[in-house]
Amino acid sequence: SKSMQHRLANDPMLVLNKMASQNGSVNLGLGFPNFPPPNHITQALADAATGENHMLHHYTRPYGHPRLVNILARLYSNLLSISLDPLDHILTTIGAFQGLSSICQSLIHPGDEVILLEPFYSPYRNMLEMRGAVPVFVPLRPYDDGSGQSSANWVFDKAELQNAVTNKTKAIFLNTPMNPLGKVFDREELLEISDLCIKHNLLCVTDEVYEWLIYGRKQHIRIASFPNMWERTVTLGSAGKSFSVTGWKVGWCIGPKHLIKVLQNYHFSSIRTSPTISQEAVAVALEKEMLVLNTPESYFYTLSKDMEGKRNRMCKYLDNAGFQAITPDGGYYIIADISSIQARSVGNEEKTDEALDYRFAKWAVTEKKLCVLPMSIFYSENHRHLCEKYVRICFVKTDETLEKAKEILDDWK
Ligand code: PMP
Repeated sequence: SKSMQHRLANDPMLVLNKMASQNGSVNLGLGFPNFPPPNHITQALADAATGENHMLHHYTRPYGHPRLVNILARLYSNLLSISLDPLDHILTTIGAFQGLSSICQSLIHPGDEVILLEPFYSPYRNMLEMRGAVPVFVPLRPYDDGSGQSSANWVFDKAELQNAVTNKTKAIFLNTPMNPLGKVFDREELLEISDLCIKHNLLCVTDEVYEWLIYGRKQHIRIASFPNMWERTVTLGSAGKSFSVTGWKVGWCIGPKHLIKVLQNYHFSSIRTSPTISQEAVAVALEKEMLVLNTPESYFYTLSKDMEGKRNRMCKYLDNAGFQAITPDGGYYIIADISSIQARSVGNEEKTDEALDYRFAKWAVTEKKLCVLPMSIFYSENHRHLCEKYVRICFVKTDETLEKAKEILDDWK
């Protein structure tokens, strides 16, 4: 429809990034690392490109490069405590993004209702609406237990979630660790979601692209490993996020044969085959990672430790500047409360329909040359009041970029 086209073309993410690149802002808007991947990862790609096996320059198996699905089956068999078949239980995709899109096109049908927990990764909504499906929004809200500001304090209301289910509900989309909030769902919360899925025969799509970016004592828990969930769950992962190679666009869907078969059929008729060479390099990287998992030799381990340090520093910079950072337990982002500094920036006097956080973000990129994203793009219009005093800040950046951001923030006080 016209209104959807308007919304897609005016996505604040596009608008703000355009403004940021035009005036050379420090960009903490986009969710990707601006530091290089580790050497052994880039070496794997170089070896794949220049090695003996020239077949790596040609089409590979449509449902997933054999070497990659083999190592993914081994890795996730361990992680899920299920014996995975590399041919039947996995589809590799062009980033997790294409996996999400293919799920919406093949497992979801026009008219289906799909529950999205807010804040949701905004493409979910667009993909569902482009399919003619109906997103049903259930917000997370913060509570204050006096223990400080943490993403763990953002919770859904159990009754509200249950009431969102109708006879048209097909699926629930889950994202843990969560973009943008950084919430890592705990076992109890996931049990509530799994109970609901089982009771109403729902499909569970769980986007776990930040599975290795977990901070502090938090643990990443996989709902696919819960009783009676495997047969109704598709788990998404991403090499882009796991190895800091977002431009390689390698992702995967893992699930039971009857769901993966539908995805494989759709993939074969729409995408056909993902690039071979980056799948080979990711396979090599994962083979190495498998040998050192949970040790300081592991990239997943060192990455999360490094990012935890950056998270802590960025939270401090934000707090010092008068933002209130909500400390995330995982992922690439911090959300921060802008209330106490908003009064000194955009005024409420302006007559506009635009969310406060969006006006603030435009002001920040124009006046302060700092690009952050409004939280309201991750909530539905009806729940805008819950989120428009927050912005999203990506801290997965070089120390140099973070220091530049600090200078801008210090100047803010
Ligand atoms: N899901 C979430 C929650 C994300 O944040 C992103 C990337 N920003 C993706 C999926 C897409 O992953 P990929 O880069 O592997 O396509």
